[in-house]
Amino acid sequence: MCEKRRLILATHNEHKTQEIRDLIISEDLPYEVVSLHEIGDDLEIEETGETLMENSQLKAETCHRRHHIDCFADDTGLEVTSLGGRPGVYSARYAGPACRPADNIRKLLHELEGVEDRTAVFKTVITLILDDKVHTFEGQVRGAITEQPRGEDGFGYDPIFQPEGYDCTFAQMSEEEKNHISHRGRAVEALICFLRSLHG
Ligand code: IMP
Repeated sequence: MCEKRRLILATHNEHKTQEIRDLIISEDLPYEVVSLHEIGDDLEIEETGETLMENSQLKAETCHRRHHIDCFADDTGLEVTSLGGRPGVYSARYAGPACRPADNIRKLLHELEGVEDRTAVFKTVITLILDDKVHTFEGQVRGAITEQPRGEDGFGYDPIFQPEGYDCTFAQMSEEEKNHISHRGRAVEALICFLRSLHG
């Protein structure tokens, strides 16, 4: 069996690492995904960009400068139509600098009280640095913000995001189901297509 090439995923979010790793493993590609935390680097990369693209590049480039090996990063935002696209790039700290996912959910549901149009779109941008070259991949999924949180699985805004065409939230789906249709799943699919093209 050929040796697997290591790709560092510039995140400390173990949920995210697991989702992405499962997608890449299922393709039987010669890459293994390890998170920053798993290689013993506890660096928190501040997301100072104004777009998802800028933040994903910032994270991938910071990681590449520190470790000098192939790496990638994703940045995700939830854009709510009736809020003019907020929280968007500020999704992680929507309720304040040190907030928890439950605080973000509470704030968003409060802002949408009595609002009819609850449509939203989850977007992910991935930046890959492979052999010192930068590549970007995008994915998105349309859906709606529910009235109340539903489901125990997933992370972040999953309990209040119901993808179009489904009657359950991401937090009520198996990881496999979510990966199949999610913003990140689609961006990773584009990344996988690219990696596949490098290996015939
Ligand atoms: P980041 O890309 O890790 O900075 O994520 C931005 C914000 O979106 C954080 O609050 C995450 O918890 C949230 N988030 C990222 N991906 C997902 C997802 O797949 N489902 C729900 N929330 C997510």
